[in-house]
Amino acid sequence: MKKEYLNKFYQKTHEERLHALVSAEVILEEDTSDFKRKLQLPEETANHMIENQISTYELPLGIGLNFFIDQKEYVVPMATEEPSVIAAASSAAKIIRQAGGFKTSIQERTMIGQIALKDVSNMKEAEEIILQHEDQIIEKANQAHPSIVKRGGGARSVKVRQIEADEQYNAPAFFVIHIHIQTLEAMGANIINTMVEAVKPYLESLTGGTAIMGILSNYATECLATATCHIPVSLLRKGSFSGEEVRDRIIEAGQFAVVDPYRAVTHNKGIMNGIDAVVLASGNDTRAIEAGVHAYATRSGQYRSLSNWSKAENGDLVGTMTIPLPVGTVGGSINIHPGAIFSKQLLGNPTAQELEAIIVSVGLGQNFSALKALVTEGIQKGHMGLHAKSLAISAGAVGDQIDLVSNELKKRKNMNLATAKEILEQIKDI
Ligand code: NDP
Repeated sequence: MKKEYLNKFYQKTHEERLHALVSAEVILEEDTSDFKRKLQLPEETANHMIENQISTYELPLGIGLNFFIDQKEYVVPMATEEPSVIAAASSAAKIIRQAGGFKTSIQERTMIGQIALKDVSNMKEAEEIILQHEDQIIEKANQAHPSIVKRGGGARSVKVRQIEADEQYNAPAFFVIHIHIQTLEAMGANIINTMVEAVKPYLESLTGGTAIMGILSNYATECLATATCHIPVSLLRKGSFSGEEVRDRIIEAGQFAVVDPYRAVTHNKGIMNGIDAVVLASGNDTRAIEAGVHAYATRSGQYRSLSNWSKAENGDLVGTMTIPLPVGTVGGSINIHPGAIFSKQLLGNPTAQELEAIIVSVGLGQNFSALKALVTEGIQKGHMGLHAKSLAISAGAVGDQIDLVSNELKKRKNMNLATAKEILEQIKDI
């Protein structure tokens, strides 16, 4: 990648941006012709994707720049409606790349399928029987989806969980069997669901219980991705704040989000700003990722920050984050949606593990940017600057009026819709 062609990307026109991507060798010249139409979801495809389809719903697709992850350059596709997310991610990535970039470690990808049974009279005995029949259970699961086995994946092991009756919630005892399944490049929901439904009757016959359901768990605790960054204080200086002050304040802000759930939710929402944008652009299931990530944030028994910020022995700021990230590079709408197909090309056709590495790094970068702004100049300065354009458009500005109104709006004390309308009227009168 010839990264230098992407400098000042935000200042370029739409056409210049496409040419910059060609010059940077990120996309091909032929990709640029009829670019927008090629990325649109055809009506026929949309109609087959969901029920009762009447139209498509568009979001802006932008690119996160400066990402240097595990010694590799990336231009990251991000689909989001929120201003400032991409700017914040890119500016964090710019600082972190100067410090050597993100380093990641990605767990071997294993998904969990659950079968819940009730009325198992002797759970201890049932557990022994299940574990004695682990090979047969695995075999039956694999027979239900032989193609994933042929590819080198499939069911690997079986675990049992006994959940006691809970009077407070009026819930009976449940006997739960987890099948650990490797779904390779797929997120695997359908592969797993097919397998667990197929073994349900066998598990009923082994335990004497009644199966309530068989389905994957979106709490993908066996598919974890970790990103780390080390940032020297020399890169942290901001306005009147020294690098040491910014580092210490970021650490304090991180500690606050560890202990206070009210802050942790907002802190993690900021992380998900970046994560969701890449998950969505890559054609993956945002709800599956959101549900798993937030559950993981409660693993200590309290909802806490997903990230951790500390001081290294040499004084660097160290950021680290581990989250469940069961994303795929095949399956679902990934190879159907033209936007998702393009996103995959933009990322250089990554493996699912590599995609995890990119997404967890974007999340950590997003968090760094938000914390740095919060503990220095505050979040509103950058955010409202970008929000001004949305206000200008909401006020009815079109074409050149958008920049004129938003630039004037930024100078005003009350940056709101009423002021945007007032400015627009004044511009129209000139
Ligand atoms: P698919 O059902 O599309 O299955 C993926 C398919 O990709 C496999 O069947 C496999 O085909 C094919 N494939 C090709 N190459 C590979 C490879 N290298 N590794 C693995 N598979 C490969 O998708 P998923 O099972 O991943 O399910 C994801 C979808 O399920 C998403 O759309 C999600 O929204 C949805 N979903 C989510 C749920 C949840 O999260 N709770 C519940 C239900 C659905 P082959 O059979 O030939 O091997």
